[in-house]
Amino acid sequence: MKIDWYPGHMKKARELILDLVKNIDLIVEILDARLPQSSANPVLQELRGRRPFIRVLNKDDLADPAVTKAWKTYFEQEEGVKALPLSAKNRSSSASLQKLCRKMAPHRCKPGRPIRAMIVGIPNVGKSTMINTLAGKKMARVGDKPAITTCLQQIDLRNGILLSDTPGLLWPNLEDQGGAQRLATSGAISENAYDQIEIAMFALKWLVETYPERVKERYKLAELNLETDALLAKIGSKRGCLVAGGEVDIRRAAEVLLREVRGGQLGRISFETPPETITAPEA
Ligand code: GDP
Repeated sequence: MKIDWYPGHMKKARELILDLVKNIDLIVEILDARLPQSSANPVLQELRGRRPFIRVLNKDDLADPAVTKAWKTYFEQEEGVKALPLSAKNRSSSASLQKLCRKMAPHRCKPGRPIRAMIVGIPNVGKSTMINTLAGKKMARVGDKPAITTCLQQIDLRNGILLSDTPGLLWPNLEDQGGAQRLATSGAISENAYDQIEIAMFALKWLVETYPERVKERYKLAELNLETDALLAKIGSKRGCLVAGGEVDIRRAAEVLLREVRGGQLGRISFETPPETITAPEA
């Protein structure tokens, strides 16, 4: 089943972002640390021009720390780009992001010349969570700015940073179906847009290749030498996903696996590695 999903209008979003970035000094793209490439917007690089660019590797509490470190190094090869692993839910993330903003736009951050920053990203990567964490109790709306679309307001972080209070909603790259499957695995895509069993099998194949010991431990399996569908069925039977007659309910097994992967029950897992070292299974 081809995954083809975006809850908005790409063209409109693109125009809006282009319009907005005119008045923005610094762009903060929120990525999912477990799949930084697949959760990136494919054209933001072009839309940002030469503006400093922070790529937040969010949900790092769920991602494999060694892989996240490799992604940081990979992204920072590019001029004007810094990558910052963090967990948007964690209050301490606010200080580290603000510190990096100030470092990256030192020409602003002066009285009367605050850094105008904007948070952008595809759905479900944690944009709103990050804005709330940044705003904390200090949240202060400063009203509509004439140059900015009327529905957008700004939050004055009161330390030289002005933040657009509405995140820029961008679209993911679904041309790459491997990326789309990783997005579905992470839970970023609406469940109606993909087949749960297919995505659970995709995830399980990756897990068996990359984190076999976690799979064995979590599902009390001595060996993993089965075809992926048979392995999913075995996991289902271990989890009691059965229908009348004792057969495995494979859909429920898929749901259980995806829920546990997303919830971190198999430990901190990344779904993709930087291009130089890519070991992803075939889509
Ligand atoms: P948005 O659509 O980009 O604004 O995403 P949200 O801020 O609504 O977050 C989507 C989901 O991810 C929510 O269930 C959040 O609680 C969760 N989330 C956001 N940041 C983190 C994080 O750092 N770690 C974890 N584990 N979950 C997070």
